[in-house]
Formats: sequence, C-alpha cells, structure tokens
Amino acid sequence: MKKFTFFLFTIVFLNPGIFLAQNTQKSPGNKDFSPGLTAIKKADLKKDIFELASDQMRGRRAGTIDELRAAAWVAQKAKEAGLEPAGEDWTYFQFFPLYRSVVAENSEVNINGQSAELWKDIWQVTPVETRLKASPVLLKTLADTTGNLKDKMVIMDLLPPNKLPEEGMSLWVYRYALSAIRQQSETLKRQGVKAVILVADSTASSKIDFFGHGIEEGRYELEKSKWLNEENSTPVFLVSREKGEELKKEGAEFSADIRVNKYTYPSANVIAKVPGRDSNLKEEYVIFSGHHDHDGIGNPVEGDSIWNGADDNASVSVALLAIGRAWKKNPGKRSALFIWHGAEERGLMGSKYFVENSTIPKESMVAVLNGDMIGRNDSGNAALLGSISPHKNSTELVEMAMNANSELTKFNVDTSWDNENHPEFWYFRSDHLPYARADVPAIFFTTLLHPDYHTPKDEADRIDLEKLTKMTQWMYATGWKVSETAQKPALDTKSEMKD
Ligand SMILES: [Zn+2]
Repeated sequence: MKKFTFFLFTIVFLNPGIFLAQNTQKSPGNKDFSPGLTAIKKADLKKDIFELASDQMRGRRAGTIDELRAAAWVAQKAKEAGLEPAGEDWTYFQFFPLYRSVVAENSEVNINGQSAELWKDIWQVTPVETRLKASPVLLKTLADTTGNLKDKMVIMDLLPPNKLPEEGMSLWVYRYALSAIRQQSETLKRQGVKAVILVADSTASSKIDFFGHGIEEGRYELEKSKWLNEENSTPVFLVSREKGEELKKEGAEFSADIRVNKYTYPSANVIAKVPGRDSNLKEEYVIFSGHHDHDGIGNPVEGDSIWNGADDNASVSVALLAIGRAWKKNPGKRSALFIWHGAEERGLMGSKYFVENSTIPKESMVAVLNGDMIGRNDSGNAALLGSISPHKNSTELVEMAMNANSELTKFNVDTSWDNENHPEFWYFRSDHLPYARADVPAIFFTTLLHPDYHTPKDEADRIDLEKLTKMTQWMYATGWKVSETAQKPALDTKSEMKD
C-alpha cells in the first residue's frame, strides 16, 4: 500500500488533469459514421500499441504496480483524445481491491535436512501457512487410500485427470496439470490427510516453468470471504521428479515452514465517455469494452521474460482510444462509454466489479461491444461471439454488427467459435460475460487464438496493423448503429446459457 500511495501521488502530481473533469466542446451532429471513421488512423493505433505493449510496461500484470502504470497511461491517452472522465469521484478511475495471498520469500522447505528451492524444485499449489515435519507415506494408486491416512502426509505420482482437456486446446499442459492436481488432491484430502505431495509426471514437467510461475504468483480473489476461507485448507505441494524420487524413499523426511503474505492491492478500471448529441438519448450509453492488463513477467522463454500482451489486449485498448477520437469528432446520438477493465487475466475481475458497482445506471447500458485480441491471423477473417444461441442475447445487436461488417469492413465472419460445444469455450473468456449475465445486450469481437497467445512472443511487431485498423472500424461502425437507432437493440428472451 505504501508503494501505491506514492504512485498515486506521483501521477496526480505529474498529470493533475487525468483526475479532473474536462470541458467538452460541441461537435456537429451527423447521421453518417464516415466523418468519425477518418479519425481512426492506423498511425495512431501503431504508435499506441507499440507504447502499451512495450517492454517498459512490463506486461501489465494485475496486482502489481505495472498494471497501475498501464491504467495511468490509458487515462492519460483518453484525456488527450478529449474523452471525459467517467470513473469514480470525477476521475478516469474505478479502483477496486484484489485480495492477494502469496507465499512469503522467507518460507523454507527441506528434504532430508537439505534445503529445497521453492519454485524450482517444489511448488505450494495454494498459499497456505504451513509448519510441519513428517515422513511422507508413499501411495502407488488412489486405491491405496483405503488405509487410515488421517493426519498423514502422503506422496504420490501425479495422475492424469479423469477428463483430459480437449485435444489441441490452448495452454493444454497448464490446464492438464492444474486439473490433475486439483482432482487428485481433493480425493486425498477427503481421507483427512495432513498434507499432499504430488510428483510431477512427464507431461506436467514439460511446462512446469510456465504454470509453476502462475502458482508462484499466488491467489487473486475479488471476494474477501473466499480469501479468508483459504486459511484452513490442507497444504498441497507439487515436486519435481528428481526431488520426488528422494522423497519416495523409505524414511525420507520432509519439513516445511511456509509463511503467507495476505494483503489487498488495487486494480483499476479506466472509464471515459463522450456525451451523445441527442438531448434525450444521451442518457443512454453504448459501451466499448476491453482490458488493459496482461500476464506480467515470468520465467524466460527463449530469453524473453516479458509477456507483452500486444494482441491480448493492447490491441483493443488502443482501438478504444481510436474509437474515442472518432466519437469525439462526430458524436453519436447516444453517449459512448469506454471501459478498459483491469485484472481480466486474473478472472474477469474488473468487469465483474464494474457490473456490480457501475458508475452509470444499469438501465442506461444499451449494449456492450467487447473486444479481446483483434490484430492477428488471416487478414480477411474475424469472429463475432454472442452471435448464435445460446450465447446470443440480442438478435438486433448481432444484426447491427453483421450489417456494419457487410457495409464497411467485409470480413468473413467466423461464428463457429461461438458454438456451445466449441472446445475453447471462447465465449466465456472475456469481459462481455458479466454484462451478458446481467442481461445487457453483449457481443464479443475477436480475431481468435494464435500460437503466440499467452507467450512472450505476443509482441507489437507481430500485429497486423491493417487488420487492427479494420477491426477498430468494425467495432466503431457497430457502435454507431447502436447509437443512432431510435429503438435500442432489444434483449432476446433470456437464453439458457450454461456456466
Ligand atoms: Zn484478453
């Protein structure tokens, strides 16, 4: 918190304007979206994305000062674009607490009296205060749990989960390992064990650096009650195969003194607006949505340790700025609200928080046009989610997006990823979801996954700037249609969306 106070002081001191309401100028009304379109410039998108996805931004991880720096950058750019603050207390920001738990650096683990290195030899899967010393009981299979294991520490090889992640799914090993650990440790915990040690199998070992770093970063919760509940859980450790072999030996001794730091750390939604030009309809908002955070710094991959998140989601962050400039030049009848959510990568936290604590009345939200990753893959293809049942919640909104595309951007629109049974469950993985669940008409613009997804190779120089410009235009033109229509897009009868 100390750091944060100093940080706020610094940005207020250097940029007092980003916390203050700005005067707005009147812009001429125009039915056609073309005057605004000229304000969407590839050169601006390029300049902005190379800044936001630069190494200096250090991957913008929520729960660190790097995310707050990115939030301040976005607010400053929004101000320069002439957008008005629409966050809390007449600022561009809506801060909210992340409840964090992280294993403290002075924690120690010993194997047979020798110190083992946390996050290299051994990982504590969920941060839990632990003080214990024991000889682990070796289990060959889960069937071994028929014996009395109460208050014993058990060690076992990691088993594949009952349900493997879909073949070819993104981040496959990560999903495999976490689901294997969860399933196996839950089964063992039901036997009343004191602690669980799982020995990484060859699959988990192949990417242990990557998902192990995620474990090292600890837990993020949006709800305080969940955070407090962590205290009584049974400690679960994952060990490397090498250390696992040592621990499996008869009479081996394991001791741990794990301390956990629990603290709150702020994340921020950045929120700005351009008032509509129609005196009645300006009370209603077309919402343009994205997220400014990404994954931060991790164990190096081919010498690069910064997850720049250029496509994910600097691409939409800079698109929103460009759409803001367009709206400012040629305001729609309805107002435009721009939200750069925080902590999306930690579980859609900013959007969940905003929907619960919105700075505008929920009834005034006409539609949410969310974007996530809009600058990669084949130049002629794009996807729109929330466009088919059961995810579609407004047929009229989808029609507006499809019409905007056929009039202007002419992408081949792929809706297959919106299929209920699509293995990636892409619809459930971005910030429109909490809005859709709150019955706000919602669609999701994306150019889908690629091999650089969530790797240090998601860099600005790999973005197709031409395509990013067109995707920005598509989001803008769709928003324009939503803004100009006399009747706001209707919500379909409530869809049966599964979790
Ligand atoms: Zn994203």
